[in-house]
Amino acid sequence: MGSLGSPGDKPFTQAQYIEVLEGLRQRPEAHLAVYIHIPFCHVRCLYCACDTTITHSLERVDQYLDALEREMEMVSERIGLGRPLQHLHVGGGTPNHLTEPQLARLMEIVERHFTLTADSCTSIECNPRRVSVGQLELIRGLGFRRISFGVQDLNSDVQRAIGRVQSLGMVRDVCLTARQVGFDSINLDLVYGLPFQTPSGFQATLDQVLELAPDRIACFSYAHDPSKRPHQHAINPAHLPSPTEKLALFHRAVRTFTEVGYRWIGIDLFVLEDDELYEAQKTGRLHRNAIGYTTSPEQEVLAFGPSGTSEIGDALVRNETDLRLWQLRVNNGQFPISSGRCLDEADQRRRQAMLYLMCNLQLPATAAADLEYEQLCRKAEHGLVEISEEGIRVTPQGRYILHGLCAEQEELGSDCSTAQRHFRMLS
Ligand code: SF4
Repeated sequence: MGSLGSPGDKPFTQAQYIEVLEGLRQRPEAHLAVYIHIPFCHVRCLYCACDTTITHSLERVDQYLDALEREMEMVSERIGLGRPLQHLHVGGGTPNHLTEPQLARLMEIVERHFTLTADSCTSIECNPRRVSVGQLELIRGLGFRRISFGVQDLNSDVQRAIGRVQSLGMVRDVCLTARQVGFDSINLDLVYGLPFQTPSGFQATLDQVLELAPDRIACFSYAHDPSKRPHQHAINPAHLPSPTEKLALFHRAVRTFTEVGYRWIGIDLFVLEDDELYEAQKTGRLHRNAIGYTTSPEQEVLAFGPSGTSEIGDALVRNETDLRLWQLRVNNGQFPISSGRCLDEADQRRRQAMLYLMCNLQLPATAAADLEYEQLCRKAEHGLVEISEEGIRVTPQGRYILHGLCAEQEELGSDCSTAQRHFRMLS
């Protein structure tokens, strides 16, 4: 059996997927979220853990958009055209690697197959090194309200070591422009555990990030695994912080952000006090899916593009990771799925319990199967959870290794948009 939250490596047939999609057609009231993976970047960052292709060919991107359009058409034929979207998220890769006409075409494709309403949450990830004023205006004009920029670290030694040089001034200008053109929310991504990160250097990055006043800050753990990501061989492991130093860097981030009023959400997200995610966490209503944290408990995620993972009903289905293979299968009129599984009742219960624990830092005794609950209770010996009559609660200490407590969930995402990176980078 694959791990709890993973689609597993078993082939999922076309007929099985059609059945899952037809099932969704029978549920017109279902809340839909669409994730689109843009699998292109202009240059490879050395720490990258994402599924992306380096290209400078406009034609290649156009061909990807042709296939994306076909994939969306095939799915819409099964679930019904024009279904309203609760959430649209475009990640990558680098979504703003697309030219302005290509971005406009992307939205035209989405709007031809789905309906975006005034209440739809629309979010996109952008690389600050690639963005221009005109592009930000266009993206906002296309209807995106939330934008996320990858910052990672602002120290020049760290930036050189990871092959991603971007000055504070440039990130500041990009954030300012994003505010001016009317984005409702700006998220900045940081990464800890990178080469040459030191307590004082990372503290400077944290302080500089605070000056930019983002609405949300994600702080991801760097996973060094050159056997899976050969470009990471360019990073000398001797330059990486030790596991203890790495934990101290994250602790520093938690302290810095929470001291000035940000609230720590789930594993690695920090939001302002009036953020709906904080309200949801306080009241035990926070959820998460393959896109990220959400206040919507029953969101079905339809993923498009190579390596996307869909979550529909009890099924987790992964698209082909390889761009050419994904494209070939779509162009042959097939759903480009590589693997998947339908969770049985016990798996679903386990998965829900772990997600609940990860989001809300507590788990009612009645929510978990006996075996998992007992396993979690054993963590109390190490001070990681507290047990009461109602259930278990993650301690402040346990929160730092929450991803370990919920290990199976981290394999849920297969691609590596910012939203899905939680799962990949913590592995
Ligand atoms: S880290 Fe992001 S921008 Fe850099 S290569 Fe990977 S996907 Fe592209």
